[in-house]
Amino acid sequence: MSTSVFENEPVAKTVQTVGSGYSIVGRVWADDKAEWFPLSERTATAAIPAATEVLAGLGLSAGNVVCFVSRFCEVVQFAALERAAQAMGLVACHTEATPFDANRLAVYLEHLPVAAVIGLGAEILDNLEVELTSLLSSGTVVVARASAVERLTDLGVRTRRMEFVGPTVAMECDEHDGLHLDTSVWAYTADPDGRVTVAPADTRNAREAAVRTDIRGALVSEPCRCGRAGLRLVETPGPEREEGGSR
Ligand SMILES: [Zn+2]
Repeated sequence: MSTSVFENEPVAKTVQTVGSGYSIVGRVWADDKAEWFPLSERTATAAIPAATEVLAGLGLSAGNVVCFVSRFCEVVQFAALERAAQAMGLVACHTEATPFDANRLAVYLEHLPVAAVIGLGAEILDNLEVELTSLLSSGTVVVARASAVERLTDLGVRTRRMEFVGPTVAMECDEHDGLHLDTSVWAYTADPDGRVTVAPADTRNAREAAVRTDIRGALVSEPCRCGRAGLRLVETPGPEREEGGSR
């Protein structure tokens, strides 16, 4: 699959959606391909409290430094976390999830007391000129993309995996027993074949389209051993996605 991340389409979509209640245009994986997704300001704002809980659950509080590793096209998935970080008084810094920005992360880790890195993937790990473990302090929380989890684990880094589930970010807790889902503004259903569809929980207010993701799994409502209630996604292996679309 060729990536169209740098084409001008999002700019055109942004122009089209200005004044219509959409504030952010990013990208989702739907039906095995990347599609542009406009997120409404209403949903982006409504998702902040749940994102605040997620960040607090990582042990973050006012004054802590958090580094987000994301791509421009992932703005929909990261919007609530970014806004929550701002509302909590965290010091947020940003690195592009591309090989070209690997050493920006290294500089942050070297010079700032980074409490959490969220979104670390193989494209960064493969291009660091310094061994990651020499940069991380023992307390740094690492939330990583699937592409980096195995290597981080081999390096002895305690890692929580994250996945994009349509327009949302789902994260493991320390129990590693499924991905915690944001049900504050999104509703999830699974097809008979296990494919998960995400749609706005409040259809009166949100105008986002439902997204049939390429994630397969079981939606589990029993409370997690970590103590959090709410829905989790316990994945089942699906067909490998072609390279070219970082998630
Ligand atoms: Zn949990």
